[in-house]
Amino acid sequence: MKIKLSGPDITQAEIDAVTEVLRSGWLSLGPKVPEFEQAVAQFVGVKHAVAVSSGTAGLHLLMRAIGIQNGDEVIGTPFSFIASTNCIVFERARPVLVDIDPNTWNIDVGRIEAAVTPKTKAVIPVDVFGQIPDMDAIGAIASRHGLRVIEDSAEALGSRYKGRMAGSLADAGIFGFYPNKQITTGEGGIITTDNDEIARLCFSMRNQGRDTGMGWLSHERLGYNYRLSDIACAIGIVQMRRIDDILAKRARVAAWYRRRLADESRVSMQKPSPDCDMSWFVFVVKLADDYTEQDRADIIEKLRGRGIGCNNYFAPIHLQEFYKREFGYKEGDFPICERVAARTIALPFHGGLTEAEVDEVCATFKSIL
Ligand SMILES: *Cc1c(COP(=O)(O)O)cnc(C)c1O
Repeated sequence: MKIKLSGPDITQAEIDAVTEVLRSGWLSLGPKVPEFEQAVAQFVGVKHAVAVSSGTAGLHLLMRAIGIQNGDEVIGTPFSFIASTNCIVFERARPVLVDIDPNTWNIDVGRIEAAVTPKTKAVIPVDVFGQIPDMDAIGAIASRHGLRVIEDSAEALGSRYKGRMAGSLADAGIFGFYPNKQITTGEGGIITTDNDEIARLCFSMRNQGRDTGMGWLSHERLGYNYRLSDIACAIGIVQMRRIDDILAKRARVAAWYRRRLADESRVSMQKPSPDCDMSWFVFVVKLADDYTEQDRADIIEKLRGRGIGCNNYFAPIHLQEFYKREFGYKEGDFPICERVAARTIALPFHGGLTEAEVDEVCATFKSIL
């Protein structure tokens, strides 16, 4: 592709930091892990951060830490990345999905309460593409029904809701550091929480169920190897040091796109909620409703043919074969999600894009439309 869909923002400083760890010989369970955790905890404004091997691992540990088990129900959204609901299935609980808001593309908060049953234990709102749903309203529903709230903030590092940071808005949150995310550690993730007990359990479970101070072969509870290496954390430390610059570059690219596509009637964009100051993860547009899913496939193919990386994003979770088979979900279950998901396209997006490249993407896209 002449213009890539995404790309990590890596400088000589990250390369030097990795080299330094390699030379130190301390590649795991070393000093870079708590240093990275402190940097993220401070940025997000929470008491604890627990670095883990992926965002998915973080979601899994949180399901265990809040005691989700076989027979429980957890409310989620069908318009997200698959890990947001797979974590529920890992613990043999049932993902109960509710449809999305047609403007924000986030879980429709107005539909959550009707999905609550005596078996419901938790809600997992997702900060879709960096936009935070109405967390105060979700918190109010949760306290009325005694539910835990886990924020899937994987796509929202730096987003704010009513001035408060993503990842600090629920019982706990997670971030992911795959290379297309706002910051990357190659692979990796982190759990953020103010809750001492959740943090204690997650620290233990990511490290084979050992408690602090326990020997290598002493295991207090069922655990996993979900550790993040010092090599990865060293990259993360530098990325967090550069975070303001990284986010500003992404916001600048998003503004270039928005200016060029604002008056394009054949596409619409995620409508920002006035409560949310968004950190940019991807640039996704939605084709007008008279375009079909096949039209979208043709447009993607033509864009790629002209050297422009792009993808459909997201595909509805409930229409994945596994979910249809296992939970009986089918087409028509979540019509708003399906209408949006059939028409969304992710355009090239990362902090290194130039204004000329955004010009080229938009001109090519418009001519294909
Ligand atoms: C990226 C992402 C995750 C998972 O992160 P990984 O590090 O890839 O496991 C979870 N939820 C959402 C919404 C994501 O975008």
